[in-house]
Amino acid sequence: MSVLLLTHRACLHHDPGPHHPECPDRLRSVLKALDAGEFVDLIRDQAPLATVEQLTRVHPENYVSAILAIRPEPDETVALDGDTVMSWGSAEAALRAAGASIAAVDAVMKGEFRRAFCATRPPGHHCEPARPMGFCLFANAAIAARHAQAVHGARRVAIVDFDVHHGNGTQACFEADGSIFYGSSHQWPLYPGTGDAAEHGVGNILNVPLPPGADGEAFRAAWVDHIIPAVEAFAPDLLVISAGFDAHAADPLAQLRVREVDFAYLTEALCALADRCCEGRVVSMLEGGYDLEALGRSTAAHVRALMRA
Ligand SMILES: [Zn+2]
Repeated sequence: MSVLLLTHRACLHHDPGPHHPECPDRLRSVLKALDAGEFVDLIRDQAPLATVEQLTRVHPENYVSAILAIRPEPDETVALDGDTVMSWGSAEAALRAAGASIAAVDAVMKGEFRRAFCATRPPGHHCEPARPMGFCLFANAAIAARHAQAVHGARRVAIVDFDVHHGNGTQACFEADGSIFYGSSHQWPLYPGTGDAAEHGVGNILNVPLPPGADGEAFRAAWVDHIIPAVEAFAPDLLVISAGFDAHAADPLAQLRVREVDFAYLTEALCALADRCCEGRVVSMLEGGYDLEALGRSTAAHVRALMRA
């Protein structure tokens, strides 16, 4: 069965300004990598706009309306905090990124595809229910999980996050809700400072911090020895992946030493996990990754593994 790729040009129009690491060229690099001949079998579709109803399953209504009301002029930006910035195209980009996660869940839960990947930005895993943060405006993975529950009858959803930063936003959405599992490997200490191994939620949160310099072997072990068995025990109806590629050795924002081959290995392991737990249902979405070349190669390795596994 083919893999669904969701993206939208509007995601290129979110521009936090010169020298900002979360730049439009990130998505260009990803799409260029996925344009190679080996990806001809990907089924490509346009990301729809998320609706207010879909967003407010996670975010308060006044938060959603406040974000959507920020429409700077084309030559202006509005800083929401030290590193989260909106431009004229940001609101639509954020709606498309969240909408892609919704459409991906629809396709996978209906059985039209086993796997789907959302090549979108801005990312989502730092966004808390009522607080934009860390380049993120809406909590895309959390919105996907809630949609699967609300519309498709999923009882339990697992969100796994291999971005080098801890997904404080996703964790904040669900730390009191045992119907969602959140598992993350991340460098620690590092932004945003959360993700201690002692943070358990209601037994549904598993954080595996890795020290600066940790290599692919340590990264794989975090997943094979800890997170994958915990997801298997949780027995989800859907697996959502927050796929950030900034654990790569070349990434300028962190100090792990993960390589493309490790992302491919983990992706295959997660697909095998989904095959055992939830009829193979995998929805993956782009989070971080700030070395343009490494990001393109790593995303290609991830999608190649989604297609193969
Ligand atoms: Zn990150």
